[in-house]
Amino acid sequence: MKPLVELISTYDVGNLLENIHAMIALVEYDGTLVSWNSAFGSCKKLFPAANKLGDFFSPSENGQFISRLHLNSKEHWVVKLPVQIGEEGFSIICDCVLIPVSKEHALFIAEEVDSASAFHEVVERLNRQVKLFQIESEVTKKIARNKQIEMEAVMVQAQEVAEIDALTFLLNRRMIVKKLQDEVLRAERYNSLLSISVVDVDHFKIVNDTYGHPVGDEVLRQVANQLQDHIRHPDLAGRYGGEEFLILLPSSNANAAAEQAARLCKQIREMAVHVNQHQQTIGITISIGITQFKNGVDTWDTLLNRADNAMYEAKNNGRDRWVIAD
Ligand code: GH3
Ligand code: MG
Ligand code: MG
Repeated sequence: MKPLVELISTYDVGNLLENIHAMIALVEYDGTLVSWNSAFGSCKKLFPAANKLGDFFSPSENGQFISRLHLNSKEHWVVKLPVQIGEEGFSIICDCVLIPVSKEHALFIAEEVDSASAFHEVVERLNRQVKLFQIESEVTKKIARNKQIEMEAVMVQAQEVAEIDALTFLLNRRMIVKKLQDEVLRAERYNSLLSISVVDVDHFKIVNDTYGHPVGDEVLRQVANQLQDHIRHPDLAGRYGGEEFLILLPSSNANAAAEQAARLCKQIREMAVHVNQHQQTIGITISIGITQFKNGVDTWDTLLNRADNAMYEAKNNGRDRWVIAD
């Protein structure tokens, strides 16, 4: 059997083109209409002035059409085309294809399709895209969530580094001074009690000089632990300087701070710091200066100064003791 194309080409192809329902137009690669069959004429009747195929499409479909012309993909697509039947204008759903026939021309063929099934196909395609998008967005959400967790952890670490003393894990100087300023404001506003204690390790230089800096560090860590363990809520302890600590006692008078100071002096005195692989222990003592906030008189730095002076008085009185400032 001879192929249909071979047989048909010897007949009147024009007659064939005029008698099929498919709308056929020959176009240039910029979409200019060159010629068309009578089925396509029903489109043309509605827009007699239109000279480009894209004029029959909506603006977004026209954009797609131009890229299809250049892609030469021969892919079918579904589009709405305006047609005039009798005196009336309609929109019909068409399955379209562009077939390149020469360097200058392509053949546009549009066949009306059952609108229900065409829409069904479009809906299916959109559904598939939505599902894909949902999967992608789930993965994106998960990545974003993990990044958020990572970022929060880094922020917590950064905050800790900014607030905590790396050797003793007490509040650092900046933070304990900030807390002191906050507590002074609170005591002023509510006329509440506030006392502070400045704690200094006695003869600490000798510890460093005798046993070395790392042992000195260990002493500081152990003193800090004792302070932290033997103060009560809402008291706060911080490292104010090298071997100097500051304790805030909100809602406490100087006598309560003195009770605490006596307890702390005893704890540190009885604390055994092991050096030289546990062969030897060193005895540590502390001196403490205490003062109570005077509303209307004190600022945070006058308060701190007075406590510092009281601490030096304790040193002068023989160390390992506490003094309440006048
Ligand atoms: P005093 O009883 O009068 O307070 O005598 P002191 O030796 O404790 O006081 P001084 O101020 O003379 O010496 C404090 C020493 O603390 C000097 C400094 O090198 C040491 N120091 C400060 N910060 C650190 C630290 O982080 N680690 C160690 N190991 N030593 C420190
Ligand atoms: Mg000291
Ligand atoms: Mg000191």
